Amino acid sequence: MYIAMVASECAPVAKVGGLADVVHGLSRELLLRNHALEVILPMYDCLRYERVEGLDKCYSNLWVPFYDHWIRCDVFSGTVDQIPCLFIKPFSQENFFDRGSFYGEHDDDARFAFFSRAALEFMYKTGRQPDIIHCHDWQTGLLPVLLYELYEPLGLDHPRVCYTLHNVRHQGVTGPHILQQAGLGMHLLAPEKMQDDVHPGAVNLMKGGIVYANFTTTVSPRYAEEIKQTELGHGLQATLHANAHKFGGVLNGIDYSVWNPEVDTHIPQQYSPQVMAGKFADKQALRERLLLQDKFKPIVAVVSRLDPQKGVHLISHAIFYALANDAQFVLLGSGSDDAINAHFHALKAQLNDNPDCHLEIGYDEELSHLIYAGADMLVIPSAFEPCGLTQLIAMKYGTVPIVRATGGLADTVFDANHSDRPYEERTGYTFEAFDNAALENAMGRAIGLWYKYPRYFHQLRLNGMHADYSWDQSGGHYLNIYQHIRA
Ligand code: ADP
Repeated sequence: MYIAMVASECAPVAKVGGLADVVHGLSRELLLRNHALEVILPMYDCLRYERVEGLDKCYSNLWVPFYDHWIRCDVFSGTVDQIPCLFIKPFSQENFFDRGSFYGEHDDDARFAFFSRAALEFMYKTGRQPDIIHCHDWQTGLLPVLLYELYEPLGLDHPRVCYTLHNVRHQGVTGPHILQQAGLGMHLLAPEKMQDDVHPGAVNLMKGGIVYANFTTTVSPRYAEEIKQTELGHGLQATLHANAHKFGGVLNGIDYSVWNPEVDTHIPQQYSPQVMAGKFADKQALRERLLLQDKFKPIVAVVSRLDPQKGVHLISHAIFYALANDAQFVLLGSGSDDAINAHFHALKAQLNDNPDCHLEIGYDEELSHLIYAGADMLVIPSAFEPCGLTQLIAMKYGTVPIVRATGGLADTVFDANHSDRPYEERTGYTFEAFDNAALENAMGRAIGLWYKYPRYFHQLRLNGMHADYSWDQSGGHYLNIYQHIRA
């Protein structure tokens, strides 16, 4: 198959969150399976250019209609981790992608509407007819609308569209001006098309993507149900119901060439399910690095963005519960909210002299590897979690996840005591209610098992290490969807 992946992010060159990892991981898997693939991205000024190989102009003077004028673009090609990528660079007063950041601009709607149109214009002008166009999140929600409203009648009639929702909290809700800018008619401001269900005067780009795509996925089966049935859909529930015949969840994978204690060069000692001694050496190394005392205690960790989505008040509670229950605690957390950052800085000052606790506030990829390897348990008390990667990484490192049973966390972590799965498939601890008592119950059971039944705790570690959340699995599911919509 020939797949064009059109997205606003791809790791590591343009990464804000999990979307970037999915575009990267899924693309690599499809290439490994010998499919033809290219990723189409905006040519941001803040791309990590040092990670693009062979960057070269491959198409000049692509004129893209936008509102009442045409914008000239050049298109560059290059590879990122062997993934063929195309970068669209517009030249206009709007300076769409020369803003020093990926998102957060007042005209993000126009920037990405333009990008969606430019990607299609490029395919049209170069005679490309991908079998599948796979687009992602609200930024490229307009692409299937543009394809079927404007480009199919012009002859770009072969592609079918798969559209993936990574987080429906951001839907690209904007004014009707966007339709005019993109060259679309006002008839799309209709309830069964792109009209926002909460603000009837507004256009919803993500809704347009769901209505027009041949198939829409989200990143776990549980999240698919949650956003269709509950307020986690943020107003998209009716649209997802109406399109339920072409909507489903596919779990994200993780890249086991990066996240694997057998080959990880960021950790002092590699280890495997067969030879676990390295994990205990890494625990010592983590203690030395973070100046924790060397005592017979489990290490409970959190590696997370510090955002309300991640359950920050429960993260704070987990610190004190762990310390009060003979466990050590390590936090690696990065936040963009001033109040939340101030809260954790205050906690750090308060706990500064505690030899069983270290709070590291910031983003540190390398330290995250040592924490996954050195910790015994990882707490993830999210309010909602479309898929979640940290529980998958923790399991691969034999670190037992303690998670709130929501979204992808519920689909991937099976409770040691309450799951109906056989013991060898149970991988951690889960809790339902979004409150301190529920969290304490799960943490208490995990810490209790560590002290009282180390053999069972060890088995739980191994169960997680043997679970397979590679892209191999997820890539197969996406290919089935591609084949289904081509059939
Ligand atoms: P989200 O995309 O919502 O932040 P995910 O669980 O899908 O959550 O992905 C989080 C990824 O970011 C993981 O790879 C995790 O290791 C990494 N990460 C999160 N916070 C930090 C941090 N403070 N420092 C380093 N890596 C982090």
